[in-house]
Amino acid sequence: MENKKIIIAIDGYSSTGKSTVAKQLAKSLQYIYVDTGAMYRAVTLFAMRKGYIDDNHFDPEALENELPSIRIRFEFNPEKGLADTLLNDENVEKEIRTLSVSRFVSKVAAVSKVRKKLVEQQNEMGKAKGIVMDGRDIGTVVFPNAELKLFMTATAKDRAERRFLELTERGEKVTYEDVLKNVVNRDHIDSTRKDSPLRKASDAIQIDNSNLTLEQQFEQILGLAKNAIKNA
Ligand code: C5P
Repeated sequence: MENKKIIIAIDGYSSTGKSTVAKQLAKSLQYIYVDTGAMYRAVTLFAMRKGYIDDNHFDPEALENELPSIRIRFEFNPEKGLADTLLNDENVEKEIRTLSVSRFVSKVAAVSKVRKKLVEQQNEMGKAKGIVMDGRDIGTVVFPNAELKLFMTATAKDRAERRFLELTERGEKVTYEDVLKNVVNRDHIDSTRKDSPLRKASDAIQIDNSNLTLEQQFEQILGLAKNAIKNA
């Protein structure tokens, strides 16, 4: 009998390695990987370019009015073997990963109309199942009936170190302190917002990867996924 396809929802704090494990899983199971953080980042970039958000002000209403003109989609990049993020047909994959976008994204992601638009699109993408989706509200809001839910955690220090390495390897000039501050600040906004706050779904399996190697973590999670597929 052919294996049933399931939905795997991965949530957790910033820089806990959600996307790393989600990509590994999707590759191994031949599932589609969807990075929902990229979608919130793309909307944030749009708002920054329009001047709707900066260090001194945020105009959520102006952004809400323009939501119908924002189109986000993913396009497979054969060189990387992964999808790039497109904002109104422009490839913004690099730009959305910068610390400047990270500084504003949680404020934009707290706007209910932004969430509604993106959640609708995410629901659509998961209709056919066979999907690994990572974010902050996947197991609680986007796919409350996902067959497997994971909730990733690690200490703030471990997470900031990871993100700092990632950014400096890409050539961004940032300090460790700024990255740590950003990680802590985003977690705070994401966990305390009114709409879809970041929290562990009651039926999610918590994985603290502070002391796990990538291989150990992947083996553990692949085992959970195979089991969930068997029981689906
Ligand atoms: O996953 P990543 O760190 O790229 O996400 C960036 C931000 O987007 C998060 O800090 C959060 O504010 C927002 N986000 C969200 N819901 C999701 C995914 C991301 O609110 N499902």
